[in-house]
Amino acid sequence: MSQSENLSGAGPVLVPILGDQLTRGLASLAGRAKDDTVVLLMEVWDEATYVKHHQQKIALIFSAMRHFAAELEQDGWTVDYTRLTDPDNAGSFTGEVARAVERHDPREIDIVEAGEWRVQQAIEEWPDKFVCPVTIHPDDRFLCSIGEFRDWAEGRKTLQMEYFYREMRRKTGILMAGDQPEGGQWNYDYDNRGKPDKNLNPPPAPKFAPDAVTSEVMGLVAERFGDHFGKLDNFAWPVTRAQAEQARAAFLTERLPDFGTYQDAMVHGSDDLYHSLLSTSINLGLLDPVETCKLAEEEYYAGRAPINAVEGFIRQIIGWREYIRGMYWLEMPGLREANALEAVRPLPEFYWTGETDMRCMADCVRSTRDHAHAHHIQRLMVLGNFALIAGIRPQEVEDWFLVVYADAYEWVELPNVAAMALWADKGRLATKPYAASGNYINSMSDYCGKCVYSPAKKSGDGACPFGPLYWNFLIRNRPLLERNNRVSRVYSNWDRMDETKREEYLASAEKILAGLVPASEGWARG
Ligand SMILES: Cc1cc2nc3c(=O)[nH]c(=O)nc-3n(C[C@H](O)[C@H](O)[C@H](O)COP(=O)(O)OP(=O)(O)OC[C@H]3O[C@@H](n4cnc5c(N)ncnc54)[C@H](O)[C@@H]3O)c2cc1C
Ligand code: SF4
Repeated sequence: MSQSENLSGAGPVLVPILGDQLTRGLASLAGRAKDDTVVLLMEVWDEATYVKHHQQKIALIFSAMRHFAAELEQDGWTVDYTRLTDPDNAGSFTGEVARAVERHDPREIDIVEAGEWRVQQAIEEWPDKFVCPVTIHPDDRFLCSIGEFRDWAEGRKTLQMEYFYREMRRKTGILMAGDQPEGGQWNYDYDNRGKPDKNLNPPPAPKFAPDAVTSEVMGLVAERFGDHFGKLDNFAWPVTRAQAEQARAAFLTERLPDFGTYQDAMVHGSDDLYHSLLSTSINLGLLDPVETCKLAEEEYYAGRAPINAVEGFIRQIIGWREYIRGMYWLEMPGLREANALEAVRPLPEFYWTGETDMRCMADCVRSTRDHAHAHHIQRLMVLGNFALIAGIRPQEVEDWFLVVYADAYEWVELPNVAAMALWADKGRLATKPYAASGNYINSMSDYCGKCVYSPAKKSGDGACPFGPLYWNFLIRNRPLLERNNRVSRVYSNWDRMDETKREEYLASAEKILAGLVPASEGWARG
């Protein structure tokens, strides 16, 4: 990692910390002497604009960075913080590190590997760009390192999350009774399919009113990024570790007990239900994922939350989150180009405007625009599902998901979108496409009752668009999917269907697809 050490500077060690590395115990800080270290945090134009992130997402990251810098300073660290508005700001991480090298003449640069491929590529060029040695530490905030995941994946025919997850349970000892899973089962997903009930009354997640720092950042965002997607004025995300801990405590005591049962439910106008809303804090580094799981585990052992809820929540974090990150590094850079189903249709405009008669879609886009958030099933079974069955080009869908969510970083967004929602990796991650008709949405939500469409009507005017598009998707991709034994049964259903009905389905689908208005230029990039 080093280059001619005798040319390196005589100054302190320079520790650049990226915007999603806001963790006190970061590997590049651990064991460092405060009087021999300059911590560098950088607001840079390239990162804020490589896609046109939701306004709340930029405000969240800059505010959390500014708070983190202030906390480090209070703790006695020397912090060099470059603001977006600094007249000499170079606009990129590499450019800002180069300027910091001139200012501090460091004898070494220490950084933790980046979450995203694009940024990591840039960092890996630093040893050739800078005269001082550069050390790149593995990101030990993940339970499973990139190398360990690679070893796990090697030689396996299928890379099912479930088996990976069991290893993470064994590794952490979380919800384990000796070498057996607590309660006798690894996975309680079967109990987690509760339908929305009109009496559901989830306690709202805490909201954090902007303080002076956040308000100043919001002003900057409104001025510089006011043309980006999303509302800014109802910003309420935790921006410090203390706030994130408060949000976590409220979740664990108030919503975790019902998290499992209603994990897949969707209710019009109710954006979070029993979900934790902790992804932004975990992804920024404000909360430690394993610590969060151990606190959830305590709720189970104290008898305050049932096993299906606690196991379900823990599985999302040490199972899905770790697995998704492992898959990202295993599949990059090819994953970004993957398009196994050869989907080429442009993204419809209503993904940005929410202007559609499909009540489920309009509600999910509203939540996304207003809060930079939608929960997992809204992302997967409404927004992702529509893109899948309508054959939208994966790269346009990926850009959309990367732009619109406050928790979106490519390492977690891309595998979820390309592989889980769109099956663009030909099933490396998901054994079958998550394609569904309106019947699924109807059974798991209260959307359909007041929709102008009806899932009971299968084709023609007033039919729920998800139905004809679902069949059109299956028929379009029959050569690829028919041999998949998790899908083959639906082809038998199709073949048994009356021919007129089949023709009606396909004619309806063609009409719906022809009516999709492509998004105008400039929403995601440029
Ligand atoms: C198409 C699609 C796109 C997604 N894009 C993102 C994204 O950009 N960023 C992101 O953090 N998550 C993404 N997810 C995963 C998941 O939807 C969000 O993590 C979750 O909705 C965040 O809300 P929450 O904190 O209330 O989660 P909860 O439902 O309370 O779950 C608890 C935690 O588990 C983790 N988690 C759950 N599911 C996943 C998953 N599939 N992958 C990774 N972590 C998971 C998160 O850290 C989350 O905070 C995506 C899922 C889909 C289907
Ligand atoms: S009827 Fe179809 S479009 Fe309308 S809310 Fe239900 S699933 Fe969505």
